[in-house]
Order: sequence, then structure tokens, then C-alpha cells
Amino acid sequence: MADTSVTKIDFDNTEIAFSYKSDKELKRTHQLFSIMNSGWLVELGSLLTPLVLKLRLPLVKPLIKATIFKQFVGGENLLDTQNVISLLRRYNTLTILDYGAEAKSEESELDAVVEEFISAIEMAASNESVPIISTKITGLADNDLLIKMQSDKELTATEQSDKEKLLVRLDKICKRAYELGVGVMIDAEESWMQITIDALVDDMMEKYNKDKVIVYNTFQLYRKDKYDFLVQSHQRAQQRNYLLGAKLVRGAYMDKERNEAGHYGLPVVINETKTLTDREYNKALEYCTDNYLDISVVCASHNTESTRLFAQMIIDRGIAKNHPHLNFSQLYGMSDNLTFNLAKAGFNVAKYVPYGPLTDVVPYLIRRAQENKAVASDMSRELSYISKEIKRRRSLDA
Ligand SMILES: Cc1cc2nc3c(=O)[nH]c(=O)nc-3n(C[C@H](O)[C@H](O)[C@H](O)COP(=O)(O)OP(=O)(O)OC[C@H]3O[C@@H](n4cnc5c(N)ncnc54)[C@H](O)[C@@H]3O)c2cc1C
Repeated sequence: MADTSVTKIDFDNTEIAFSYKSDKELKRTHQLFSIMNSGWLVELGSLLTPLVLKLRLPLVKPLIKATIFKQFVGGENLLDTQNVISLLRRYNTLTILDYGAEAKSEESELDAVVEEFISAIEMAASNESVPIISTKITGLADNDLLIKMQSDKELTATEQSDKEKLLVRLDKICKRAYELGVGVMIDAEESWMQITIDALVDDMMEKYNKDKVIVYNTFQLYRKDKYDFLVQSHQRAQQRNYLLGAKLVRGAYMDKERNEAGHYGLPVVINETKTLTDREYNKALEYCTDNYLDISVVCASHNTESTRLFAQMIIDRGIAKNHPHLNFSQLYGMSDNLTFNLAKAGFNVAKYVPYGPLTDVVPYLIRRAQENKAVASDMSRELSYISKEIKRRRSLDA
């Protein structure tokens, strides 16, 4: 008989969510999220932090490292991430390593990023808790080149040579991942470079996803056209005889898309409302679950409703909860109530663990702080769960 226990997953169970944190750690996390709850402090911090880091003022780096960096980042290098990987493993949670390479352009920097991704793949191959690493095409080429590649404009000779280098870099990463059987997820970016990225990722999937899903594309369901694109990507994979890797996200660049698409001569592709985005996202989850034999899907979301729905769909179809093609993922430092309750219930769940030198991960940290600002005067979702757990532990002591 099918296991119908999913309806019993209690995503409000903070005891399971935070059992990996001591009382002291939980209090520190509470302080951090209380600070991030304040809208004006986050705005001020977002503006000042890059400047202050440039000025190399004493104590700033240690302060950031002991607080927001510790909460959301696995460490400054690959070796540092071992502690976090081991901690997560103790709670049946996998790790997706995410080297924080944002918008590089110098040749030597781009080559160094490739080497860093390869080191992560090699480390993942020797650690079964790390089945996948995350990569960004924006870390392998200049953004201007990616934008130009999808425009009608002809590339100059230098750009053509840079494009060739990009193809070599990407292939080197995917090939090594293929040789070692490690998954590679490729992030989705703004629409003015996403056509370039989709074409490159399709080629890599065709080359390396013959027997097992190695390469994953990312589908942003806040876009009106991405559900159809998911179906087309699946059809293409069927016609050309490879498996599809699909990381499903809502999308991180909504305001930028609305404000800047016109600048690139593009229409705004974002759904008009959040409800429409939620509908598209859940539809995509359903499509992938119905086709799970030839699509490996990752529900990369902090949305409780979508997470519950996906879990329920797996159960309703009588598929094993830990089927390798059905995966959940949340960012390290966020939504522990989803991650650890899913893991406890026996689903495949992984934390996205970013790592990298502090100055390189600052843009990532600013995005996390912005996300955790209070909505109107309410507490952020994370802060209310942490507060609930502190109260629960206090009531036990009383
Ligand atoms: C593991 C992981 C990997 C990720 N990788 C990527 C990536 O490669 N590329 C990327 O772009 N993002 C990525 N993200 C971020 C993701 O796209 C979302 O921004 C973030 O997860 C918030 O969405 P949610 O599903 O968690 O939940 P929710 O909080 O329910 O949704 C918020 C999202 O809904 C959408 N939305 C909000 N308001 C509206 C509105 N008025 N109209 C239309 N849509 C609206 C936006 O996309 C917003 O981010 C990743 C997230 C995770 C957890």
C-alpha cells in the first residue's frame, strides 16, 4: 500500500528544524535575524558594506564573518565547508556546493573559477553527501559577451575568441563532472542573457545526460514563457535521446527584469502577479513528477505550499520518496523547517551551501539580508520560527 504519511509532515515543527543548533547558537541566530528584520538597517548595510570593505577598516571583516557570513556561507574555501557538510549529513541532508563566483571578467579570474569548480567536483566525487555542485555561466565569461551572443549583433573577432574560450571552460567542467558521476546545476540569470545560457546548457545536457542526469538547467517560473520552455526542453531531450535535468525556481531578478528589460529592447517576461507565478511553479512541479523517469527535478524553493504539494504528488503517485530524480533544496541558513522535516520524513533534500572569499560573497549576503526583511510590520518567516523554538526550549526549562 502507498505510504500516505506526507500529510503528517509538520513544517512548523521547530524542534526538528533547529535540533542542530545549541541554545547559544539559536540565540545568536535570533539576534542576526532581528537585525535583518529592520528594513532601514538592511538598506543602509546593503549600501555601506561594499564601501566599508573596500576601505579595509579594521574589525569589519571579522564582524561580518562571525555573523551573517557564518549564517549563510559554508566557509571561505572548499576545505572550510567540510564542517557544514558533516553537520548536515548527521541530519540526513545532502549538500550542493556553490562557489560564490559573481560577474568576473578578467581571463585569469575566469580560468581560476573553472579550476575552483573542478576542485569542487573532485571533492564531491569523494563525498557521497555532495551529489551535485552549482555553477554559473556568469562566472565563466563576461556578462556583456553573454548578452551580445543572444542579440542580432555580429561578434567581433575578439568576442568570437572569448566565446570559444567560454565553450571550452564549460565543457571542461561538465566533462569532469561526467567522468566522476557528479551533478552540475547551472544557475538561471536575467532574461537578456538567458537565451545564451539555455542554448549552452541544452548542448551540455545532450552531450552528458545520456544515461544519468549530470547537467541541470534552471527554469524560472516567474517568467510567462518558462513552463512551455520546460515542456519543449523535455521534448527535445526525448527526440535527441537524453535525460533532462530541471532545477525549478521562481526567479530572483523580478524588479530588475521589470525595470531593465526595456533597456535591452526586450518585453517584460514576468507574470503579472505572485499567484500566477505560484500556479506556473506548481504546474511545472507536476509536469516533472509525471515525467520523473526521464526528468530529474529539483524543487529549489522556500515556499511551504509548493514543497508540501511536491511531497504529496510523490506519495500520491506511489513513487519512492528517495527516488534519485525527485529532490528538494533550500539555501543554507534558511527554511530549516522545510529541510529538516523533509529529511526526517525520508525525502531527498539538499542545502545549497555557498562558499568563497568574503568579498566575493558579499552580493549573495546582501540578497539574503534583503530577503529576510520584515514584510510590512510582521516578523520575517525565519525570525518567527526561531522565536518559536526559543520559547519552546524555555518552556522545557521552566
Ligand atoms: C536552492 C535554490 C537555488 C536557486 N537558484 C536560483 C537561480 O539559479 N536563479 C534564480 O533566478 N533564482 C534562484 N533561486 C532563488 C529563487 O528564484 C527565488 O528567488 C527564491 O527561492 C524565492 O522564491 P521561493 O520559491 O522560495 O518562494 P516565495 O517566497 O513563495 O516566492 C517569492 C518569489 O515569487 C516571485 N514573485 C514575488 N512577487 C511576485 C509578483 N508580484 N509577481 C510575480 N512573481 C512574483 C519572485 O520570483 C519571488 O522571488 C534559488 C533558490 C533556491 C532555494
